[in-house]
Amino acid sequence: MKLENENQWNLCWARPPNSDAEWTQWTAMLHQLNKVKFKSGEDKWKWKTSDKGEFTVAAIRNQIARQDRAGSEEEWKYWNMWVPPKVNYFTWRASIERIPAKKELIKRRIPINNHLCSRCEAYEETADHVICGYSLSKSIWRNIVVWLKLPRSTEFRECRDTLEYVNDLPGSKEWKRVINAVFQTTMWNIWKARNEKEFEGNTRSGNSIVESTMADSFIWLKSRSKFQDIVWERWVDFNMRDIVK
Ligand SMILES: [Zn+2]
Repeated sequence: MKLENENQWNLCWARPPNSDAEWTQWTAMLHQLNKVKFKSGEDKWKWKTSDKGEFTVAAIRNQIARQDRAGSEEEWKYWNMWVPPKVNYFTWRASIERIPAKKELIKRRIPINNHLCSRCEAYEETADHVICGYSLSKSIWRNIVVWLKLPRSTEFRECRDTLEYVNDLPGSKEWKRVINAVFQTTMWNIWKARNEKEFEGNTRSGNSIVESTMADSFIWLKSRSKFQDIVWERWVDFNMRDIVK
């Protein structure tokens, strides 16, 4: 006759558990072990999310697509052809906190040393913190806002605020699209600088990040928009009113 609870564990303690916490962990583990049922036959791997238990790339793709849809209820309305798709894709992901900032990595159980932003070492690293929240990114945005001749009081707390702000500005669609392109390029460059610091140990100044933003957005607008005739001297002044209606 089989007993109801047939698993017996032969315990060879180095020492028995000696605190409440350890006893709790021990019982929790036993609880898990007792759920295990042994069957005769060969061991095999099973992929839990597919019906047949088989691993296929298609199953993973579907699973990721399902999870992505759950996280972004609305459609992304700030797509801008005047900056490359990788930049659009990045700013969209950043706005829904889906870029690999430390907080997100920890959520996904990726082992990293700590959750703090490596620059200020005071706040948890989130997309919003890196791109808008901490002192250097704030000063970068201040410079960009001044360059673009936008109201000096403009401040952003979250990635999503930036493109929403552009959308709500008075002015023509075309002009807003230029500003949108610069804003997306700014976010992209702030994140690139973050990665340089994180992976190569290079610390870049705010000025150099602003300069890269000006250069990238200039090249992208020149090659991707209808403003092929813009010249660098006017671009750095953002003297564009007669070109961009
Ligand atoms: Zn920080």
